[in-house]
Amino acid sequence: MKQKSIWTNEINEKTYPELNENIKCNILIIGGGIAGINAALNLKDNEGVVLIDKDKIGYGVTSHTTGKLTYLQGTMYTDIQKAHDFNVAKKYLESQKDAIKIAIENIKKYNIDCDLEKNDSYLFTTEEDKGLNSQRDFLSKTNTYFEDSKLPADIPCKDAIKVKDTYVFHPLKYIMGIKEIIKDKVKIYENTTAIDMDYKDNHYIIKTKSGYTITSNKVIITTHYPFFIFPGLIPIKIGLNQSYALSAKHKNENWNAINIDKEIHSIRFYKDNIIVGGFSHDLSDNIDYKKEEDKLINFYNTYFTNKPEEVWLTHDLKSHDYLPIISRLNENHPNLLVATAFNKWGMTNGILAGKILADLVNNVENRYEALFKIDRSPSLEKTKNFITSNFKIGKTFIGTKLDKNKEFYNKTYITNIDGHPCGVYIDEKGEKHIVRNTCPHFKCSLIFNNADKTWDCPCHGSRFDIDGNLIEGPSVFDIKLKEDK
Ligand SMILES: Cc1cc2nc3c(=O)[nH]c(=O)nc-3n(C[C@H](O)[C@H](O)[C@H](O)COP(=O)(O)OP(=O)(O)OC[C@H]3O[C@@H](n4cnc5c(N)ncnc54)[C@H](O)[C@@H]3O)c2cc1C
Repeated sequence: MKQKSIWTNEINEKTYPELNENIKCNILIIGGGIAGINAALNLKDNEGVVLIDKDKIGYGVTSHTTGKLTYLQGTMYTDIQKAHDFNVAKKYLESQKDAIKIAIENIKKYNIDCDLEKNDSYLFTTEEDKGLNSQRDFLSKTNTYFEDSKLPADIPCKDAIKVKDTYVFHPLKYIMGIKEIIKDKVKIYENTTAIDMDYKDNHYIIKTKSGYTITSNKVIITTHYPFFIFPGLIPIKIGLNQSYALSAKHKNENWNAINIDKEIHSIRFYKDNIIVGGFSHDLSDNIDYKKEEDKLINFYNTYFTNKPEEVWLTHDLKSHDYLPIISRLNENHPNLLVATAFNKWGMTNGILAGKILADLVNNVENRYEALFKIDRSPSLEKTKNFITSNFKIGKTFIGTKLDKNKEFYNKTYITNIDGHPCGVYIDEKGEKHIVRNTCPHFKCSLIFNNADKTWDCPCHGSRFDIDGNLIEGPSVFDIKLKEDK
């Protein structure tokens, strides 16, 4: 992801030290995004809680979201119904309403200054004969109040509904607020990357990139994409989706919207800015990122006037049955917990994950435990998505290996140096930046992202800058020429 978004612009925060010794703790939380920080908040009164992040807390995907706290979530309910049944979809809806309640309670209780605003949420379609009737049907059957409506913007819209009791906020200010609240109770380490995990004598031993270890009774993995393959084999249980967003000056308006069509348009306002996002696509070995980003910019330019100030792109993770994974990893590892695959609704699901994970750690019953369990029941839809997703990843992996002499953009190319495939980027001054072209995570070959000027893994989404520094996992290693991995 680009390091900047509208949210990262405004923040002036306190930073925390890197871990520089071996330590022991009771509960280790790895990854301080919306999920990890909420877990830390709910566990702050437990003994011996440590939170580590590979960068600065909050600067992962959460700082690149649109920051809507809404339960009107595109086609999520009808999708879940297809993969499970009406009752499961209804329970998911209840969980999202509860997540919003938890967020509001936290913000009020701790007086978190995060520009929270009550905001009508619109769901709309741009397609002539699509309609929203199955969404209306679901909302009616669950006694959810909604109104038939018109979209309050001059963009194509054939049908729209709205709900009223939803919110928007500044996601990074929310995280910074929580960081302040927990700082005296939870030991925080930044720039501390977990690279490996061992299990011995009922303890987890986490190895960090700088060579130190953290020995913990319980471990919570909230790293967005988990950094390990075993245990749990999570990479085959989730998929990735790439989205784009931009912000520009605009008068503030009190609504947010998303459509249900193939091409997603998501809109909200923040102070005197509009944020437009969407145009998501799956990863593959043949993406022209600039072209994809331009689709968003062209859409924006057609209907709005001011020049975009920030444009950014980022991934989110999806599960094969549309429900997040918030769970103990398995029976053999009841003290290893994970929250991932929020299906692009991680503001609500991350906040909820914080509560469920804390309840699991403290053996407190949570009514959503079974809903988000990693080994919940299979279904035809889930199996179909599992096969399609893993087939695509396999095809992408092979595709990148076959196309060895690919030329990407402005003379950026892959070549062989000392028997290793390398990526070569030539900058504006004509200087060459050479990196390894193999992702340390699963050994996929990398493609060049011409929108952000990064090397990206089209299989599992790891990203590296032109000098080979890791930006985003699941890889935990760089791809510098001299890197051993
Ligand atoms: C364009 C876009 C718009 C979106 N808009 C919305 C919205 O309006 N509403 C909504 O509900 N959801 C939205 N989402 C989804 C939401 O942003 C994500 O689901 C959510 O932010 C994911 O949070 P997270 O805590 O799982 O991950 P992150 O925020 O990425 O946090 C993970 C943290 O773990 C750290 N980490 C990673 N690896 C390691 C390691 N090995 N060791 C230590 N630390 C590590 C990272 O540095 C990071 O800080 C949107 C997503 C996108 C892409």
